[in-house]
Amino acid sequence: MTATFKTIDDYELDGKRVLVRVDLNLPVKDGKVTDATRIERVAHTIQEIANKGGLPILLAHFGRPKGKADPDMSLSVVVEDLARIVGKPVHFAPTDWTDLKPAKAVIESAEPGSVVLLENTRFHPGEETNDPDLIARMAGLGDIYVNDAFSAAHRAHASTEGIARALPCCAGRAMQAELEALEAGLGNPTKPVIAIVGGAKVSTKIDLLENLVTRVEALVIGGGMANTFIYALGYDVGKSLCERDLKETALRIMDKAEDARCAIILPIDGVVGWHFEANTPSRTYGLDAIDKDGMVLDAGAQSIEKIKTAINEARTVVWNGPLGAFELPPFDTATVEVARHAAERTRKGQLVSVAGGGDTVAALAHAGVKDDFTYVSTAGGAFLEWMEGKPLPGVQALMTAPD
Ligand code: AMP
Repeated sequence: MTATFKTIDDYELDGKRVLVRVDLNLPVKDGKVTDATRIERVAHTIQEIANKGGLPILLAHFGRPKGKADPDMSLSVVVEDLARIVGKPVHFAPTDWTDLKPAKAVIESAEPGSVVLLENTRFHPGEETNDPDLIARMAGLGDIYVNDAFSAAHRAHASTEGIARALPCCAGRAMQAELEALEAGLGNPTKPVIAIVGGAKVSTKIDLLENLVTRVEALVIGGGMANTFIYALGYDVGKSLCERDLKETALRIMDKAEDARCAIILPIDGVVGWHFEANTPSRTYGLDAIDKDGMVLDAGAQSIEKIKTAINEARTVVWNGPLGAFELPPFDTATVEVARHAAERTRKGQLVSVAGGGDTVAALAHAGVKDDFTYVSTAGGAFLEWMEGKPLPGVQALMTAPD
């Protein structure tokens, strides 16, 4: 581990007011939380702080209220689930972030062992503009700042970045696990590293591909985006999803890979369907014989073998994006088989496997291997920006913060 950030082990928490940035941007329908996974991810950080005598005061955003107090986007909706999962009383602290008196009153009267949840940070425009005045007032509510929201770390907001410069700060347990996994995936990985990038379109992943070719020994390009590369190499991909206008981009990425000695691994056969739907008839073709009326919706058996062999040569895999239209069987085959292979090697201690972003979590869950990977990030945008090699402001602030 070379990352230099503090953790909650570095602070005496007893009697301290601990501002904890968490991700509580949960899906809600008819006033009820429909998926509480994000609470589960941060529960142990909150419990640990409370058990050590600190008062966890939670900071989070919810939806996009655009800098105005909006009762429909009040974080009060998560209180019940939060209290149940954390197993401690939760006091909701209302505020519009201009008048902090009601929030201060809740904090002052909170009993030891309980938790305070502050109102949606995005009720104030200063949250997203990282406003110094809001940062100072927010920081005044606590003694220590703990960031446990990697998924919000790609934004330089008051509660994710500014406040880390205003208070003694450290990573919470979920952030710590995420940063350690990312360090093992690309920061300081055991080589050789193979990256697997799939998904629909090249256009959304140009920066990511350009960064990866300079960082990894091999790059598997799969899914719909592989069609653009195959087309750029001169093959006819029929009615497949293909961004023909990105031919030059695809060629440039392949050139850059060659210069960086990164092997590009493309499918050598494709499973073609004639309708974009589950269980539609399908047939496998070599690249030079793809049916003009069909769509390549998955990688073929030979491609799967080639990818598995490449994984066998790697010690680390970093994965984003499915290798086919995995929601529509049988076009889930390549994603499922390759995921299971990576999972098996991980279980045997032969591979470090880090995955995340977009549909990847759903694809690995579909393959039944989500818990067998070394680490699966649910962070979405922040995970992709990390794969693109961009500095994440919320993480940078933890790394450089004063004592
Ligand atoms: P992304 O969000 O970019 O990771 O893309 C994920 C989506 O790509 C999934 O919904 C897949 O169904 C879709 N996808 C993957 N491979 C193909 C393909 N060959 N043709 C069409 N869609 C695909």
